[in-house]
Amino acid sequence: MVRIDESFVYNSIPNRVVFGFGTSARLGEEVLRLGLKRPLVLSTPEQKRDAEALAAKLGADIAGIFSGATMHTPVDVTEKAMAVVAETKADCVIALGGGSTTGLGKAIALRTDLLQIVLPTTYAGSEMTNILGETSGGLKKTLRSPKVQPEVIIYDVDFTLTLPVGLSSTSGMNAIAHAVEGLYAQDRNPIVSLMALEGIRALAESLPVIVKQPQDREARAKALYGAWLCGAVLGSVGMALHHKLCHVLGGSFDLPHAETHTVVLPHVVSFNAQAVPELLAPVAEILHADGPGQGLFDLAKKLNAPTALKDIRMPADGLDKASAIATESPYYNPRQPTRDQIRALLDDAFNGRRPER
Ligand code: NAD
Repeated sequence: MVRIDESFVYNSIPNRVVFGFGTSARLGEEVLRLGLKRPLVLSTPEQKRDAEALAAKLGADIAGIFSGATMHTPVDVTEKAMAVVAETKADCVIALGGGSTTGLGKAIALRTDLLQIVLPTTYAGSEMTNILGETSGGLKKTLRSPKVQPEVIIYDVDFTLTLPVGLSSTSGMNAIAHAVEGLYAQDRNPIVSLMALEGIRALAESLPVIVKQPQDREARAKALYGAWLCGAVLGSVGMALHHKLCHVLGGSFDLPHAETHTVVLPHVVSFNAQAVPELLAPVAEILHADGPGQGLFDLAKKLNAPTALKDIRMPADGLDKASAIATESPYYNPRQPTRDQIRALLDDAFNGRRPER
């Protein structure tokens, strides 16, 4: 039973969501509804053919395709895309892909106010947020702005059928991380907690099926639905220690995004469970585990996802530096960690030890 014993503020996300199988067929309708005429389709080089197929469905009325999106939204790539926007007089962007492609669309929107339609193909959740991380000169800076919030999201489950099993697992764990941190966010509220628990449940039930049968349509639909909810949590409330640590590890050691989230999450959750056991108990319950950190660790194992930082290119001599950076500036966490505690947590994550709770 949900307890409503405190006042709270709930910000709903200002977007329109179309969800289902084959929903990309409704893209033209959505473009028309917004009164747009010259969309620029964005993708990574790997998803260029999908972008071309999508553009072909739209017919003659597109400005063009830019398929140079890449991880961490480098500003020089955005500048190349901006030149195409200017040259083609595009009046909106259509991002087909994961967080990298969505990030490029957001970077363009930040500079031009163009409307964004996103067709997500991973479980990262960026399409639900007003957050953009841009990289320049090796430094990643994150901002929040209503300008980067995508206006229309078309979740087409069919696009996720090709998501490789490994990326499905880690991207799904990345989504779960948003939801878990939403449960103990400083600005948490009952509505966001509902979405968080439903999102975790949907992913915890579907990801093990996807690992065995990547083409299982029901599991794919459930995972995308869960990813949507988890992304909405990230877009609605502030995050804490887990996202801070992953940002430090990704930014300073160039570790792969979704894998880093997968490895670090069980350890942060186990650490925070000592401070807010009641908020994290439902996670253990959903995962049928004794503790929430243990449940997440066991889920990662079950998905054959990485569980040790040493296996995802983290240098052993980087742990001191990472602990120092992570404790340099203050940020919210339900339990304030010391540098030694972060160092110990990272050591457990580095070696892939199963958390205590
Ligand atoms: P990604 O977008 O980098 O995709 C990884 C690779 O998988 C790419 O080569 C891509 O083309 C390919 N791919 C994607 N979907 C596929 C599919 N269905 N079938 C086959 N191949 C597919 O990965 P990601 O994890 O979605 O995104 C990571 C990036 O997103 C990071 O830069 C991260 O910082 C950012 N992110 C931002 C937010 C936010 O709110 N701003 C949230 C989450 C992630």
